[in-house]
Amino acid sequence: MADVVILGGGPGGYAAALYAHNFDLSVALIEKERPGGTCLIRGCIPAKQWLHIAEVYTTVAHAADFGVISDQPKLDWAAALDRKNQTVEGLVRGLKGLLDKRGVEVIEGYGRLAGGGGVEVETGNGKRTVEGDAVILASGSYARTIPGYDIDGKRIVTSDHALDWSQSPGRVGIIGGGVIGCEFASFLIDVGSEVHVFEMMDQILPGSDPEAAKALQRQLKNRGVKFNIGVEVGPAEVGNAGVGIPFGDDRVEVDVVLVSVGRGPNTEDVGLDNTKAELEKGFVKVDKANMLTAEAGLYAVGDIVAGTPQLAHAGFAEGIAAITHIATGNPAPVDYRAIPRVTYTHPEVAEVGYNEAQAEERGLKVTATKHSFNGVGRAIIIGQNQGHAKVIAVEDGPIVGASVVGPAAGELIHELMYAVGWEALPAEAAAFIHAHPALSEAIGETLLTAAGKSLH
Ligand SMILES: Cc1cc2nc3c(=O)[nH]c(=O)nc-3n(C[C@H](O)[C@H](O)[C@H](O)COP(=O)(O)OP(=O)(O)OC[C@H]3O[C@@H](n4cnc5c(N)ncnc54)[C@H](O)[C@@H]3O)c2cc1C
Repeated sequence: MADVVILGGGPGGYAAALYAHNFDLSVALIEKERPGGTCLIRGCIPAKQWLHIAEVYTTVAHAADFGVISDQPKLDWAAALDRKNQTVEGLVRGLKGLLDKRGVEVIEGYGRLAGGGGVEVETGNGKRTVEGDAVILASGSYARTIPGYDIDGKRIVTSDHALDWSQSPGRVGIIGGGVIGCEFASFLIDVGSEVHVFEMMDQILPGSDPEAAKALQRQLKNRGVKFNIGVEVGPAEVGNAGVGIPFGDDRVEVDVVLVSVGRGPNTEDVGLDNTKAELEKGFVKVDKANMLTAEAGLYAVGDIVAGTPQLAHAGFAEGIAAITHIATGNPAPVDYRAIPRVTYTHPEVAEVGYNEAQAEERGLKVTATKHSFNGVGRAIIIGQNQGHAKVIAVEDGPIVGASVVGPAAGELIHELMYAVGWEALPAEAAAFIHAHPALSEAIGETLLTAAGKSLH
């Protein structure tokens, strides 16, 4: 009998398993594949490895802009795939080692909640029931598709397949211009594919700051991505020469369709029927103060949770919150407001807190202040001075949101994460001096202007 049984070894589950050692809790972690989940094996890490490969390719392709002469690069897809696999394998190995060091019992098999503190597991050696005082469900998510787009893994694929391409896919149609769709569009256009993005909503990155989304779209369009925004696609027309994507009175022919229309929760066959846990459109409802479901002693974390962001680090935070509640009985709610959201395209788009519309929906009267990367020395040095930083502050009040589009936006956003998390006033945050020349000077300048003064 363990103190905690965790079903699912992705970021939500493995963070909970690792964090439990702080309270001397014994843990059994049930995982049907290898620990790491979507994030390590077919999500964040491999996707970012491919994006970095594209960045290396682009850097070499444009080396002459900096007076460095080299031959035009050629992408060796098999070698790049090997690099991606090595990165994933290394991190999975590291995670396994850490779980082992922390004394977590990893049980390989398919688990289903059995009610109470039990989880029934189908292992290679038959069925067994694992019992715990508390159970955390962290079964994660799968790539959804839409009618008319049956995934065959070859010509109609999801990110699961695209991350394992060992040769150029040729012409690619991407259905869905959200984070995953845009990341693939950025990577593919940079390594020479023809890319068409189809988005049903009226902007790419739906839910993001519209100005940031437009800035990204402009840069991707300039590099050759063809956008079809506000369109609904008809069923795929699979032929010998390619796949047709009909939309309105138009049609585009591609070699491969990548469907990236969001991720559904893995809640269908995990034994939830044996519990009192409640669902909302398939996602598990929890008390966000402690991640408890309606079933006593059953917690849920990560992508399966209703109404929380499907992000690896949101899963980490929820795993920590569940363990803290199990160990101490005290609520340790996740501050979702201050969780950064990053799209790792080129350029990156990073956000934290509210954009203007979201702040106004909450009845806040806000002012937005922007500063362009255009005059930022370091951005000019590296040849990436397009984009901007934006800070949203309540009038005569604290900073409640921010977005950055530009070089290293995914790193820069963290200083604004502190500002949002600590509810800093623009003048308080602006009082600190940034190093020169640094990309983060764009943030310093934005804060200075937000505080009513400006320098450059
Ligand atoms: C292409 C792509 C790129 C992404 N990029 C980012 C990014 O840059 N940053 C970011 O924050 N997020 C990113 N995400 C999202 C991120 O991967 C998820 O938010 C995160 O993995 C969710 O963690 P989780 O623990 O809830 O679920 P998962 O990571 O899905 O893990 C669930 C685990 O449970 C196991 N499991 C499920 N059911 C059972 C069962 N019945 N028995 C045993 N085991 C079971 C699964 O095998 C899996 O290992 C990306 C996702 C994709 C697809």
